[in-house]
Amino acid sequence: MVAKEGVKDLIPVQVAVRVRPLSDKENRENAVPCLRVVIGKDRAFTYDFIFPADKSQESLYQQCVIPLLDSCLEGYNSTILAYGQTGSGKTYTMGTNGSKQASTENLGIIPRVIRSYKTYVSFLELYNEEIRDMLNPSSDKPLSIREDNLGVFVNNLSELEVTSGRDMEEALVRGSLSRTVGSTQMNTESSRSHAIFTLILQRADAQDPSNTVTSRLHFVDLAGSERLSRTKAEGARMKEGISINGGLLALGNVISALGMVTKKKMHIPYRDSKLTRILQDSLGGNSRTLMIACCSPSDTNLEETLNTLKYADRARQIKNKPILNVD
Ligand code: ADP
Repeated sequence: MVAKEGVKDLIPVQVAVRVRPLSDKENRENAVPCLRVVIGKDRAFTYDFIFPADKSQESLYQQCVIPLLDSCLEGYNSTILAYGQTGSGKTYTMGTNGSKQASTENLGIIPRVIRSYKTYVSFLELYNEEIRDMLNPSSDKPLSIREDNLGVFVNNLSELEVTSGRDMEEALVRGSLSRTVGSTQMNTESSRSHAIFTLILQRADAQDPSNTVTSRLHFVDLAGSERLSRTKAEGARMKEGISINGGLLALGNVISALGMVTKKKMHIPYRDSKLTRILQDSLGGNSRTLMIACCSPSDTNLEETLNTLKYADRARQIKNKPILNVD
């Protein structure tokens, strides 16, 4: 258990870089690991955590996720984002692959959290700026983003009450399986959508038990960040690529604006995409975010890895300033 921090001491965004092992395909192509952490040079990046390829799911969970859960249980909204090119390990890290077979050692973040807490869950997919309810994909109720005095929420999205770890795991597996998957030249299994699995934690206020405190913990498996040209996307796939990148671009801009927030009010462009709008209450202000930048170790992916590291570097600049002008 980490020491409890006061709001002013919260680190709003922490960034972890995670490198997966070389894949079979990369080994067949004689790819060479090229990722090194350079310290003490002008252009070197620094991150809060680095997980080389031999680091386990458990070590990432212990070091980055448990401290975030502690503050979430105290009432701070939190977000865990997996960012990186297709095939870099986002789904593996987050645990949204829908595989019931995963060995305990390979379990990703969400199933690990599920085994520890009781709560409600929702699961949505953002595909071409369209929201889909992954726990009720055949629902014909319109899903729209709304805001009330408790914050931003998706109207009509199913929130499933779960009373056991098994219930939650079933919701995760069911939702993961209904996720839209498109094939690209880069990776036929690659997901072209953003998936947001949310735990809604409700508990009685210790001072006033009749009052409930609700906090949300979002787990976001972002769509692949690779460039359109690399995936040779065409037609409908090109349209997907444009809106996927639109969401990632908007997220980058929000992150960048949060990094520049000073004492004076500043416009944060949350409304530029549904992704940033849905995550609005959990990015900046008094919330906490963990971004996991997933990287291939291979020299053949060097350019994309550099893009990922730059994006993650920008995220790390976010300062926690409570005076935000939410548009
Ligand atoms: P993404 O979601 O970024 O497209 P995946 O999570 O599907 O990528 O990972 C691609 C492949 O690499 C999968 O077969 C996955 O099991 C494997 N993989 C990813 N990260 C790791 C890791 N840290 N250790 C072992 N295997 C990994």
